[in-house]
Amino acid sequence: MKEKVLEINNLTKRYGKAKTAVDGLSLSVHAGDIYGFIGHNGAGKTTTIKCIVGIHGFDRGEIRVDGRSVQKEALACKKCMAYIPDNPDIYEYLTGIQYLNFIADIYQVSKQSRQERIRREAEDFGLIPVLGDLISTYSHGMKQKLAVIGALIHEPKLLILDEPFVGLDPEASLILKNKMHAACDRGSAIFFSTHVLEVAEKLCNRIAVISGGRLVTEGDTRELTRDKSLEEVFMEVAGHGRTD
Ligand code: ATP
Repeated sequence: MKEKVLEINNLTKRYGKAKTAVDGLSLSVHAGDIYGFIGHNGAGKTTTIKCIVGIHGFDRGEIRVDGRSVQKEALACKKCMAYIPDNPDIYEYLTGIQYLNFIADIYQVSKQSRQERIRREAEDFGLIPVLGDLISTYSHGMKQKLAVIGALIHEPKLLILDEPFVGLDPEASLILKNKMHAACDRGSAIFFSTHVLEVAEKLCNRIAVISGGRLVTEGDTRELTRDKSLEEVFMEVAGHGRTD
């Protein structure tokens, strides 16, 4: 059995007293997994992700990254993961290369490693010609690509992505998928939310469906979709979504 890179046990997160956004959620992501997290609008995906990466505290349960508690050892957990939000809001007054060096400094990536990785990733994503330009001049997709390069710069053990394919052109989506496979081949794990079920079905070896804050199904993609499409499975287990 491969090591657990992310373990969520009985996670409950409320906003105020009235809203339970995530309700007793448990799942595990292992090294080498590309794990898809799917659910209707408002199902609790982003809330779960924000609890994992330390943006939100939570009311009950435990989250462990590479064996460590995100509440008790937050810094150690952050060091071994990277997170790309659904709408990366990156520092517009920096140039692309300044941003990447800033991220590399934070994660203490050596000069030699960062140079190699920046060159390789920026070349693959076609960003070399604009690395010296201010981020404020980038399109949404270019910012997204820069955020991906920044996330890969310290070769994180756990990569968390919220709706990573939104805004990427077909070529960039393909490159990102290849990068995800390459990261997993190196022993990392990827946990990402998406509404694009065709992508999840093809890309992910494991899938979880969340509805109304609760996990409604989870498992090996091939076993879940044995004689059906993921869309059919999704509609069966999540229906039209629970909004209570
Ligand atoms: P989407 O696919 O639309 O991005 P999601 O699955 O990521 O949805 P969340 O953003 O986690 O869903 O929201 C889960 C529930 O929590 C929703 O009912 C939402 O209205 C509520 N919620 C999210 N953020 C807050 C907040 N800051 N304050 C109060 N309620 C919130």
